[in-house]
Amino acid sequence: MEMGVKLSASWFVGQRFFYVIKGDLEAIDFTWPGVKSGKRKEKREMVEEKGQQGACGAGGIGGGRCNSCTVTSLLATSYSDFLISPHGTQVKVEELKGHILGLYFSANWNSASQKFTPVLASLYGKLKEQGALFEIVFISFDENAASFDEYRASMPWLAVPFSDLESRKMLSGMFQIEGIPSLIFLDAEMKTTQAEGVDLVYKYGVDAFPFTTKRVEYLRKEDEEKRSKQTIVSLLSNPSTGRDFLRSHSSVKQVPVTSLVGKTVALYFSAQWCSPGFKFTPRLISVYNKIKRAMGTKDQFEVVFVSSDRDEATFELYYEVMPWLAVPFNDEKTRSLVRYFDVRRIPCLIIIGPDGKSVTGEGRSLINLYMENAYPFTQDHVRSLEKRMDEEAKSFPKFRLHSGHHHPLRLVSASSGGGPFICCECDEQGSVWAYQCITCGYEVHPRCVTEKNWAKLGGDD
Ligand SMILES: [Zn+2]
Ligand SMILES: [Zn+2]
Repeated sequence: MEMGVKLSASWFVGQRFFYVIKGDLEAIDFTWPGVKSGKRKEKREMVEEKGQQGACGAGGIGGGRCNSCTVTSLLATSYSDFLISPHGTQVKVEELKGHILGLYFSANWNSASQKFTPVLASLYGKLKEQGALFEIVFISFDENAASFDEYRASMPWLAVPFSDLESRKMLSGMFQIEGIPSLIFLDAEMKTTQAEGVDLVYKYGVDAFPFTTKRVEYLRKEDEEKRSKQTIVSLLSNPSTGRDFLRSHSSVKQVPVTSLVGKTVALYFSAQWCSPGFKFTPRLISVYNKIKRAMGTKDQFEVVFVSSDRDEATFELYYEVMPWLAVPFNDEKTRSLVRYFDVRRIPCLIIIGPDGKSVTGEGRSLINLYMENAYPFTQDHVRSLEKRMDEEAKSFPKFRLHSGHHHPLRLVSASSGGGPFICCECDEQGSVWAYQCITCGYEVHPRCVTEKNWAKLGGDD
């Protein structure tokens, strides 16, 4: 590939990076032999294996942990031995010797990248302030030089020149970049220490520095310790403002956090702008009312809304329809709960047991699968529900016709071609049992199938 040519378009499909160059469509395949797509974990293990063997692969593409790499062999090519500074000046690659590096694969057109860049910039600023020998190098997946320049202007770190397509391609291949944003941390010897840098930065921020396995292990242990001391009061009250109550619909609008001690509590992370919540919130309300009714006066269950709404008016509007409690709008506890429970997607339902310890983060799927029967969400209870479901499934027909689909659907379980899925009928998550179309991958919950008449379609039964 020549230097200085413009990509007029580029995109990822699975592990294949397509780009249009001088009117021709080309593609780089990032797949390794024998590796199934979408399984990052397996891949990383393979990368590590390769690295241990010291394999560098043809043309430097191959081992994620190249044992003989230096910062120069990694980031400089025969045409270009420099990076671009935020001011647009050239910085020699060799000036990065001895630095811990973050390779940041990102693009202007990608909303997840846009969301992550300021988070990374804040971490970068803090580390630079502390005088850490640390640098980030942006490897662009932008569509053209103009969007690259615009995006780079928001970044305080260095970048591989947009014209150096050779390096950008080589680095994406070498580090098995499947999607963006992606952040790879390398130690001063240019060995990969963390391949899931984005997750790490979201979770631990600057505390994760120097991004070694040892540091991350330490942080995980510290987290575990925090979790072992966790109580419902420590989770939901805010000592820094003295708030020891939650919002309620009662006339006083307040309920002490201590009233939840000894109960099973579901923390409902949601927001009015979140469209999957439109379907889940009414379902949760119905389940909530049924559980409460079944309990009568021995009330042992509560839901607490943790809002990610952007303004108070929408919060009030959304909370209005919810029959349960809420963390007051804009309370700083909200952010710390999101981080503590590592909530990435909403709606999300985290279950806390009567002892104040976390039971499961899968509350939403459990409700979708078992409705009110999911209560009290414990492992033992879920196992017995699974057993009951497996029993019931024995009587399910092997094939069914669903009025929402034009192919016959086959009954699958996690062990027979099924697995976690999004139901095409109700848009909610599912796992374990499903009806699946082998032709097009369409999948629905067994309870979401509405029967179509076989005879009308010319079926033989
Ligand atoms: Zn469904
Ligand atoms: Zn189909």
